[in-house]
Amino acid sequence: MSSSSRSYIIVGAGVFGVSTAYYLIKKYPDASITLVDRDAYDADSRVAASWDWNKVVRADYDDIVYCHMGLEAQDIFESDPLWQPYFHQTGIYWMCRTDYAQDVIDNYQKLGRKSDLMYGGLFDDADYTDVKEVLINKTSGWAAAGDCLVAVTRAILDMGVKYVTAEVNNLVFDGSGQCTGVRTVKGDIIKASHTILSTGAYTSKLLEHSARSSGNSGLQAGSRIVAGGITTGMTKLSDELYPKYAKMPVGVQGYRAEQGPFIGSLPPTKDKELKWWGQTIFRNTQEVLPGRFISMPPSGSDYKQWDISPKMRQDIDHANNVFYGNRGKTWKMEKHRVCWDAFTSNGDFIISPHSASKGLYVATCGNFHGWKFFPVVGKYVVQMLEGDLPDNLVQKWAWDREQTDPALFPDHPRIEMKDMLEQRDSRL
Ligand SMILES: Cc1cc2nc3c(=O)[nH]c(=O)nc-3n(C[C@H](O)[C@H](O)[C@H](O)COP(=O)(O)OP(=O)(O)OC[C@H]3O[C@@H](n4cnc5c(N)ncnc54)[C@H](O)[C@@H]3O)c2cc1C
Repeated sequence: MSSSSRSYIIVGAGVFGVSTAYYLIKKYPDASITLVDRDAYDADSRVAASWDWNKVVRADYDDIVYCHMGLEAQDIFESDPLWQPYFHQTGIYWMCRTDYAQDVIDNYQKLGRKSDLMYGGLFDDADYTDVKEVLINKTSGWAAAGDCLVAVTRAILDMGVKYVTAEVNNLVFDGSGQCTGVRTVKGDIIKASHTILSTGAYTSKLLEHSARSSGNSGLQAGSRIVAGGITTGMTKLSDELYPKYAKMPVGVQGYRAEQGPFIGSLPPTKDKELKWWGQTIFRNTQEVLPGRFISMPPSGSDYKQWDISPKMRQDIDHANNVFYGNRGKTWKMEKHRVCWDAFTSNGDFIISPHSASKGLYVATCGNFHGWKFFPVVGKYVVQMLEGDLPDNLVQKWAWDREQTDPALFPDHPRIEMKDMLEQRDSRL
């Protein structure tokens, strides 16, 4: 196929979609590449998990594939002028209750890289119950996520990528069942030879609608993808406190799988806001179409991401407490958001052709850890599109792969969102 006859629709302008468009336009400057997203890339509020005040950037992984990818991404964050302004190499301070720290150190050694030590004393009041080891890696840090996403999107639009602000209702197919593009909620049809879904938490819903409209039930995600929501919260530090925390590392409380997911505390943004994410990752199981139940973000154009229940607030108060103890008791929580991501049973992405239709590809499922790979993940998606992905990654990220027991994956959504919304009266 010549460069000018290649055409790509990428649904979803989060990190998976934008990174893919970036690598495609670099490789095929004359190709037609269209990003379609329900939200304008520079909107004041977006539903993308990738759009956030900040995200942790690290290569501290016990899985060597993500350790390697994290190092690759960090090299770009540190050196490429497109990404570099958004990366803050503050280090990470990780309180581990498993062998995670040693596994990370082993992986760094296997990959011939050094981690670097530091400590600032800010977590003296943290909860160290059952902590086996503390991993301190000076090379990790955080990124101003939303600002970075907007900047890179703007750059690829300058390079020739098109951006359509529209909600996709369903995929469209030709008579042989091959995917030929998308139909928007308004009824417009956009066609391309390749359609890539980078739709995060919404992916299962879109596939359900596409299965219903086409009659091809093989399109459904089933148990492969579960939408999960996590609460985040922020406090604004006073002018007196800010200097003390300005250069703090990212804090992580790591737990054993049966205890739950790790909790994080992110250093202050330029607006002096310290952020946490909570420990409760919830699903939202609803009847998407008659007789079909899936977890999906709440309906409405903004996934109801700003509607926060008292229980969600408590989750953030708990996070504050396990990091700062008495120090954080008087801090006022000012901003909360529920952020939705797509989860697989073991935390691996899906970067794969969809087995139920030619021309259709899936590149998403960040599993609560996908942002940091923004500078590199698109390279792997392009390799997948062209059949060049190494075999181990083809299998690891396949659409059709063995479903492992989600109970072994601490981040897999464990409770229903409705249980986070119920108000229990303690007098009853
Ligand atoms: C609270 C929280 C904290 C996190 N912290 C970190 C962290 O510190 N470090 C890290 O590396 N990762 C982190 N992650 C994970 C990371 O944010 C995600 O894995 C990653 O951003 C997912 O990217 P994505 O492109 O797949 O999806 P998204 O960023 O969610 O993008 C999907 C896009 O698809 C669009 N879309 C969906 N359906 C349609 C449709 N029908 N029509 C049109 N557009 C559509 C949406 O509008 C959205 O823009 C965190 C996630 C959460 C929720």
